[in-house]
Amino acid sequence: MQRKEADAAASPRNPAAITAYHAHVYYDPRTTRDRAALLRERLAAAFPDARLGRWHDQPVGPHPGAMYQVAFAADRLAVILPWLMLNRLGLTVLVHPETGDAYADHAEHAAWLGTVLPLRLDALLPSRD
Ligand code: ZN
Repeated sequence: MQRKEADAAASPRNPAAITAYHAHVYYDPRTTRDRAALLRERLAAAFPDARLGRWHDQPVGPHPGAMYQVAFAADRLAVILPWLMLNRLGLTVLVHPETGDAYADHAEHAAWLGTVLPLRLDALLPSRD
């Protein structure tokens, strides 16, 4: 067992540590951008309190493909997650909590709707130089 797993086994984490969530909607700029745009319009209409991030046609940070981010308050998960489950239009969506540990939030705490994509987790490690 790795050290982090041992720590987690020793005492369960309190979900109150989650301050917010992100949903990252992945798309292919050549083939599924239209669907991503439709999903984005529908998200904005259904959840005006969610913050829609910029379009990233090029991969950024740990994200292996084009995507945009949807940020929402922790108490909105129970409403937004089932909506995404039913309405993601076949797109892959990564949902992760914000606990202050970006690496763990993406690598260990994330939930995927659709295909699990290989994240570039090196982008979240502290620089070692
Ligand atoms: Zn995120």
